[in-house]
Amino acid sequence: YLAKEARSGVEFYVPDKDRNSPERLSLQGDLRRAIDRGELELHYQPKVTLADRSVDGVEALLRWWHPVRGPVSPSEFIPLAEQSYLMRELTQYVIGMAMEQAAQWWHQGMQVPVSVNVSARDLLDNGLAEQIEAALARLRLPARALRLEVTERVLMTDQAYAADTIRELAALGVQLALDDFGTGYSSLVRLQRLPVSEVKIDASFVRRLTESPDDERIVRSTIELVRSLGLRSVAEGVESAEIADRLRDLNCDVGQGWWLGEPMAPADATAWLRERLRTDPPITAVEAPAGA
Ligand code: C2E
Ligand code: MG
Ligand code: MG
Ligand code: MG
Repeated sequence: YLAKEARSGVEFYVPDKDRNSPERLSLQGDLRRAIDRGELELHYQPKVTLADRSVDGVEALLRWWHPVRGPVSPSEFIPLAEQSYLMRELTQYVIGMAMEQAAQWWHQGMQVPVSVNVSARDLLDNGLAEQIEAALARLRLPARALRLEVTERVLMTDQAYAADTIRELAALGVQLALDDFGTGYSSLVRLQRLPVSEVKIDASFVRRLTESPDDERIVRSTIELVRSLGLRSVAEGVESAEIADRLRDLNCDVGQGWWLGEPMAPADATAWLRERLRTDPPITAVEAPAGA
């Protein structure tokens, strides 16, 4: 048993640790070219208010279709980018693209916040808040049109905590979400002191919510904690109606997952939003007779 575990550990970790393996270097080179050629796309996944199923917003998720390898998961290439000079550029590219999309929707009356994932280094990048401020002005977007998601692991380090960027973003009015909550080691004191408005409970706890009493306990107490701090709770990994209903009963504010809406290419996301945000018929169209 131990040998097997050790072996699988080795298989998993060695390629990752070798920063200069030909495999990694070639993928990094390809990513560099993909950015230059605009081969990366953002897909948008709905975030849905659980109480009434209204649209809360969308999360932008990066998609890369490699010419030879086919689709490469962001969980694979984001860490590669993070360990190189590419991350900064990638984030600027993603924020630019997401904000252009937000502006298109916003100015067509589809006014939902777009959430963008950023990583550790981005928060130490002094230019980030300035880039966002300038883009908001250029695109005539209010700060509430953009939200940033940072993983718990990242945000809980002293370095990130101390970063001016977080305070500058908060001053602009750009909301911050703590992503993948439950996978790191948060201190409650820190959670309370950070300018975070949303906590996203990691899918690994949510997926088995209705089957595992342990996971249910974790999710339930997290929702209560988040609520007691006056923050919004968002559950990731909502894969069934049962999970959505249970989360709603546990007073979770917002859900995200395949059952509520998959990540969609821009055109599909636009159609989805248009359909979901379609208002009730204008009052002039149908007037109920008085006294009816
Ligand atoms: P994340 O921010 O926690 O995003 C949620 C992930 O859960 C996405 O994976 C999404 O496709 C997936 N997901 C959606 N619905 C379900 C569901 O019902 N069940 C399960 N099990 N998963 C679901 P994806 O797109 O593969 O992205 C993985 C991670 O890569 C993201 O996790 C985020 O940390 C990172 N990432 C993605 N796009 C970007 C980006 O533009 N910039 C940065 N820095 N990171 C990104
Ligand atoms: Mg996220
Ligand atoms: Mg997450
Ligand atoms: Mg994640």
